[in-house]
Amino acid sequence: MADTSGNEPPVRSPRVTLVPTPIGNLGDITLRALDTLRAADVVACEDTRRTRILLNHFEISKPTISLHEHNEASRSQEIIRRVRDEGQHVAVVSDAGMPGISDPGLRLVSACRVAEVEIEVLPGACAIPLALVGSGMPSEEFFFGGFLPPKSGRRVRMLEEALERETATSIFYESPHRIVKTLTALKELDADRWTCVARELTKKFETYHSGNAVSLLEHFSSITPKGEIVLLIAPKKLPKFLTHANSAP
Ligand code: SAM
Repeated sequence: MADTSGNEPPVRSPRVTLVPTPIGNLGDITLRALDTLRAADVVACEDTRRTRILLNHFEISKPTISLHEHNEASRSQEIIRRVRDEGQHVAVVSDAGMPGISDPGLRLVSACRVAEVEIEVLPGACAIPLALVGSGMPSEEFFFGGFLPPKSGRRVRMLEEALERETATSIFYESPHRIVKTLTALKELDADRWTCVARELTKKFETYHSGNAVSLLEHFSSITPKGEIVLLIAPKKLPKFLTHANSAP
């Protein structure tokens, strides 16, 4: 039977497939992701209960196993055995977005490469490129620093490094509980740098707040920041066509 791409499915080979899942809008699952989840023998999930909700939504009934930061090393070996010895196709998902980006998956990929087990990665939802393009900041070069560290010393150092970047936009995942502290630190380091807080991407209350740390701080101190956040800091040098963009939010 043809799959959702209209093609006859290729002869199935035993492998591991990393499957990105929506970061807020269920419509962002891809046809290939659905085909893969339907075809796989088992789905390895960061949180089986959460993935079960996603699978149920798409009427996919599939056995699941857990793959999270605490069992990734041992589970990777089990997954490799399943593929190599039992000829299984294992789909891997995290709670949201691209597995392996601030989520489990990378150790498994690395173990599969070492064991020469076939691995494929599907394209799909991920907060980084979305926030970068949506912010309007330079996208030619960018640095992704994962979650900003909770400890203030390390966090300030990361911010200092971001402010030193000449041509690369800096991107960080940030908690809503810490965004005011982070903007306060940023304001003390450089009150003028073009900064963007991208919130709740792909969801009902998606917002991009752009401006310098002072204006963003004013805004985020007056509300209780909620939801998921990506923080972006522009580089020192902006391409000519973007220089006008560093205005008030
Ligand atoms: N693997 C995910 C991805 O591909 O984006 C990232 C997982 S990481 C554990 C979760 C963090 O990503 C959140 O705390 C937030 O910083 C960012 N994030 C995820 N979804 C988001 C969204 N819809 N809007 C803004 N930021 C988001």
